[in-house]
Amino acid sequence: MPSSKKKKPQQPAQGEPSNPTAPAVEITDPQTNKPNIVDIHTHMYPASYIKLLESRNTIPLIRSFPGHPEPRLVLLPSEVPLLSNPSPSHPPGRPLTEAYTSLDAKIAFMDKHNISISVLSLANPWLEFLSTSPDPSSLLEPALRINVEFEVMCSQHPGRLYFFGVLPLHPENTLCALPLVLSMKMKFKHCRGVIIGTNGLGKGLDDPDMEDVFEMLEEDDLPIFLHPHYGLPNQVFGERAEKGEYGHVLSLALGFPMETTVAVSRMYLSGMFDKFPKLKVILAHGGGTLPFLAARIESCIRHDGYLHKKEKEGRGKIKRSIWEVLNSQVYLDAVVYGEVGLKAAIQASGERGVERLMFGTDHPFFPPLEEGEEEWGSVVMNTEAVNKGLGEGSKEARMVLGENAIKILNLEKP
Ligand code: URA
Ligand code: ZN
Repeated sequence: MPSSKKKKPQQPAQGEPSNPTAPAVEITDPQTNKPNIVDIHTHMYPASYIKLLESRNTIPLIRSFPGHPEPRLVLLPSEVPLLSNPSPSHPPGRPLTEAYTSLDAKIAFMDKHNISISVLSLANPWLEFLSTSPDPSSLLEPALRINVEFEVMCSQHPGRLYFFGVLPLHPENTLCALPLVLSMKMKFKHCRGVIIGTNGLGKGLDDPDMEDVFEMLEEDDLPIFLHPHYGLPNQVFGERAEKGEYGHVLSLALGFPMETTVAVSRMYLSGMFDKFPKLKVILAHGGGTLPFLAARIESCIRHDGYLHKKEKEGRGKIKRSIWEVLNSQVYLDAVVYGEVGLKAAIQASGERGVERLMFGTDHPFFPPLEEGEEEWGSVVMNTEAVNKGLGEGSKEARMVLGENAIKILNLEKP
């Protein structure tokens, strides 16, 4: 157990607001006078992952459908009912374009949208589908291979690419993940944290077995990028959704953010943030619905008879309010597509909340659907939300668009 081993002296956590004298990073492009953007939410599927998906019969998988030239990437539990009876005109999943797999395509996308630095991550899901095998190495090898592939991609574009690594979280063997966490920083020069789903080792992020993993990540100052994949159970959305009538809208717009909200709330209620007060957690999609629901969570805690009794009997109390956790350990991406969500995310993150948001695109999901459309509308919406909400060219907009990420994730200034 790592808890019994001697702790390394804690370095000051990068990007903590406890260092207010750090000079502001200037990242304006001198030629265009536009801020260079840092995208911390941008995915890829490296070659070895694609190979894995091509060999599978259950989701996640890649399958070709008659009449459709591109194979399709079928990932989401909500797509399963459609697999057995695929519509000939609109089969399940999404076309596996080169945007998911090609580094050149990623760089072209970055250039097109004025993005100087991207922090790449494996797109969902994160290998837990392999954990049905009792052998933990079934996860370890693919995780290592994928991290090596990301490291190689990053080293091909010095200064422009970093990545969040993937962990082999096997339910039978927590320890499987630990050596990789330990060596993450040493082995992978461009690694700036890890991406994980809400499942943890199979029992969520409030699972006591996750403590070893959190402890290692905290000690190594490797932030977690927490990202949804499962959404909500299909029946929540009804029969018409199951038949595919609403496309992916309900699962992506509502299921994903709720999943993140539930996962982080469970972490909070279990006291994980109190146990690991230096652990940094970056929440995808502006924190799901957490900024809007934090006060309600707080109120439910204060008025909960069971929690009240437990506290009176000295059997545990959550030490800090959800607000305190939000403005000390949680960071939010700015993938919210509008000013209202952006402002809520900033306000929920405290007085200096604007220091805690980092721009993202969620590329290559949400692509343009018409031939010849080069600019990605989803990216434009996210950029405009920042520029309109904080003032184009303002110090605050530049912070969210790039400077915060440079400080928090310790990236090199372009
Ligand atoms: N965004 C993601 O990151 N993954 C999906 O599957 C869909 C949207
Ligand atoms: Zn994403």
